[in-house]
Amino acid sequence: MENGMSMQAYIEEAERDLLHTYNRYQVVFDRGEGVYLYDTEGKKYLDFVAGIAVFALGYGNQDYNSALKEQIDRIIHTSNYYYNVPAIEAARKLKKVSGMDRVFFTNSGAEAVEGAIKAARKYGYLKDGCADHEIIAMEHSFHGRTMGALSVTGNPHYREPFEPGIGNIRFARLNDFESVEALVNEKTCAVLLETVQGEGGIFPAEEEFLKKLRDLCDKKDILLILDEIQCGMGRTGFMFAWQKYGIKPDIMTTAKALGCGVPVGAFLMTEKVGAHSLTAGDHGTTYGGNPLACAAVSKVLDLFEEDHIIEHVRKTAVYLERCLDELAARYDFITERRGAGLMQGLAFDRPVAGYITKALENGLVLINAGANIIRFVPPLVIGEEDIDKMIEILDGALMQ
Ligand SMILES: *Cc1c(COP(=O)(O)O)cnc(C)c1O
Repeated sequence: MENGMSMQAYIEEAERDLLHTYNRYQVVFDRGEGVYLYDTEGKKYLDFVAGIAVFALGYGNQDYNSALKEQIDRIIHTSNYYYNVPAIEAARKLKKVSGMDRVFFTNSGAEAVEGAIKAARKYGYLKDGCADHEIIAMEHSFHGRTMGALSVTGNPHYREPFEPGIGNIRFARLNDFESVEALVNEKTCAVLLETVQGEGGIFPAEEEFLKKLRDLCDKKDILLILDEIQCGMGRTGFMFAWQKYGIKPDIMTTAKALGCGVPVGAFLMTEKVGAHSLTAGDHGTTYGGNPLACAAVSKVLDLFEEDHIIEHVRKTAVYLERCLDELAARYDFITERRGAGLMQGLAFDRPVAGYITKALENGLVLINAGANIIRFVPPLVIGEEDIDKMIEILDGALMQ
């Protein structure tokens, strides 16, 4: 307990000083160790949220921490008007694991989505000299809170108070190819979707849907943009979720686990898009791709390889799915388990907030994805014994 303040006093001060844009759980996290978090009063919690699919490597990874400390002592920030070594290395490694050709580093997921939208619009603009191209996005999608990202987010409640959005956005239904096809016209420059919808309730895109979209986009010279901000970086047992399906996007976004806690995102594109979209003067950022953020990305990608994170996810996910299925079978108010890899959701026939609060009281951190779904996005280094422990606490919360 630093300077003797109680957790309750911290919470009261936060509620006076921070803009109330979140109904926060009543806990102040202070430090982390492996897959556990500790609050300011020393209580220990098993973490199945990982800062919302961010802290893939767990807390207190010494290799990661040391790389950041070294970079802090060398240089934290330059400017994108100059080259820096961590950005060059991070881009090389990110290209290797994604098979994409060009990288633009951002500060967040939303900013990566903004960049992807701008690249797609510029691509359309260079084709016909017109500036009224349309983007098809999906219902129940989530792409971020900035105006462009919000405009392609398929949840009217998030958008409504902030209309008008950027305009020329149409919404189709995930896994309903005809609903996309029906919206395509000569103005369409891109189709945008999350390979696995996250906030919207953990809905994976189906292989057939993705393949048909890929064909459609190829035929009509429309860009396929996959938002891998939540489902990417090993989460589904593939570095990027689309890699399971033998298709490849023209533009891809990543963030969340990319820096494992250091705020960083990126949008990546193929050479075809790179050569026919954003060019000098079209886009920029002060912080994006700075040496500290990129040292994090670079180290994260090294550690994914060295620690065989993908293999671990594939193995552990089988166990998680089995345990969740067994749990779901015991409660008739749990209607479905769905997801991919270590990105899972349990759908309830009722709101889940009370169960999550109860679990937190009992030392387990969980989060929802929509009112009726509990989401499981633990650190990727989670072990089977951690899953057993999670099930035990959650089971206790469900029995109340
Ligand atoms: C979290 C998320 C975003 C937004 O990322 P921020 O870093 O919060 O701006 C965008 N798309 C998806 C799929 C996300 O899960």
